[in-house]
Amino acid sequence: MMVKPTVAIVGRPNVGKSTIFNRIIGERMAIVEDEPGITRDRLYGEGEWLHRFFHVIDTGGIELNDEPLLTQIREQAKLAIDEADVIIFIVNGRDGITASDEEVADILLRSKKPVITAVNKIDNYEMREQMYEFYSLGLGEVFPISGSHGLGLGDLLDEVLERFPVEDEEEKDDDTIHMAVIGQPNVGKSSLVNAVLGEERVIVSDIPGTTRDAVDTEFEKDGQKYSIIDTAGMRRRGKVYEKAEKYSVLRAMRAMERADVAVVILDGEAGIREQDKKVAGYAHDSGRAIVIVVNKWDVVEKDDKTMHRFTEEIREEFQFLDYAPIVFLSAKTKRRMQNLLPVVRQVAENHHVRVPTNVLNEVIMDAVIMNPTPTHSNKRLRINFATQVASGPPVIVLFVNDPELLHFSYRRYLENKCREAFSFEGTPLRIVARKKN
Ligand code: GDP
Ligand code: GDP
Repeated sequence: MMVKPTVAIVGRPNVGKSTIFNRIIGERMAIVEDEPGITRDRLYGEGEWLHRFFHVIDTGGIELNDEPLLTQIREQAKLAIDEADVIIFIVNGRDGITASDEEVADILLRSKKPVITAVNKIDNYEMREQMYEFYSLGLGEVFPISGSHGLGLGDLLDEVLERFPVEDEEEKDDDTIHMAVIGQPNVGKSSLVNAVLGEERVIVSDIPGTTRDAVDTEFEKDGQKYSIIDTAGMRRRGKVYEKAEKYSVLRAMRAMERADVAVVILDGEAGIREQDKKVAGYAHDSGRAIVIVVNKWDVVEKDDKTMHRFTEEIREEFQFLDYAPIVFLSAKTKRRMQNLLPVVRQVAENHHVRVPTNVLNEVIMDAVIMNPTPTHSNKRLRINFATQVASGPPVIVLFVNDPELLHFSYRRYLENKCREAFSFEGTPLRIVARKKN
């Protein structure tokens, strides 16, 4: 599995960071269909240029409300330095160099990270003159761009690609199940990791990540190797930005990238909160297999219906995660802890399931007979053939007369039929339509 490089966008407010962020991720965003019930922060996205895929962070999206502006800008620069492989430093060509530009430039310069300076709001050729003064920031070549007009972005991204670290295929043992434990602060991530590791034989501890100081620990249980990525253990002391709620999402994203299974933790005592939905939404987007854990079950006042009610609430609040199994446990008392790993193992297996083409076609055709395909402006969707083209997560391609005719609700219907027929529990399932030719 290749780890995608990360690009961070920094700069003081109003220079055009979010405009450029949207430009870079723009076309990719359109691919991710808007699903009801998922809230996303526009802070973190995926970009693509010349078939290279990378993460993009708009550090301006990490707001530290109660901090002075300069502290915020500084912390955003530090975040970029910690998280990114390449930093795009944006300045405003119309304003010239400001004191805070100099301040940020200084922090970036000392970091020794690759920094590319983009002079924004150069909306036409005549304005290019205004970019030259930015050479005095001492960060090397500067690139004139216009975020709002979409000018100069190609040259900028060419340079970004140039500066990516050389791809080194990370050594990954294929039979190990990599799990990321994610959730907002205080739900019990560290406690859960400790509870899992406390009981199992730890093979290697603290393998430093190749590029980052994430902590992965390997262990074995019932003949199966696991590796657990501890996002809470990645906390660094004294960083103001780590208090920002959105930052926990960012950390979760980075951990999930290296995982097969995302273990999404909810706090049974506190109930479901807004931030949980975001973490869960990103987990869904990531395409990883998912297990939902309701932790702190020891302190929840229970009767024989409590678990059922909580389950219904989760299903209601996270409709897009209806495929994820739910495990109730207590990391603290270790009650029901033994249920977790078998479920993780099962969903990891389902994530890589391959279904035979002939059986898949039977399932799809039966589904169509039971509930005929929709029509739109007198045109009926016709499905000719279905085949699974990928796994981890599974992707099913339907060859159809007109892909536009496959709408969300019918896709959802077919997905449910596939889920009834095959063991896809815990894994997202992607169904895409292609024109038959
Ligand atoms: P951020 O605070 O750094 O994220 O900046 P925004 O992306 O929100 O942009 C701030 C303002 O600058 C908005 O009004 C944008 O429309 C404007 N802006 C962004 N890029 C350009 C550009 O290339 N040219 C011009 N003229 N305005 C721009
Ligand atoms: P993290 O920030 O998500 O890593 O959460 P921690 O593991 O640091 O736990 C946050 C707090 O919740 C600590 O005070 C833990 O002792 C407590 N906690 C964690 N798991 C449980 C649990 O299963 N039951 C109870 N009662 N408390 C728990």
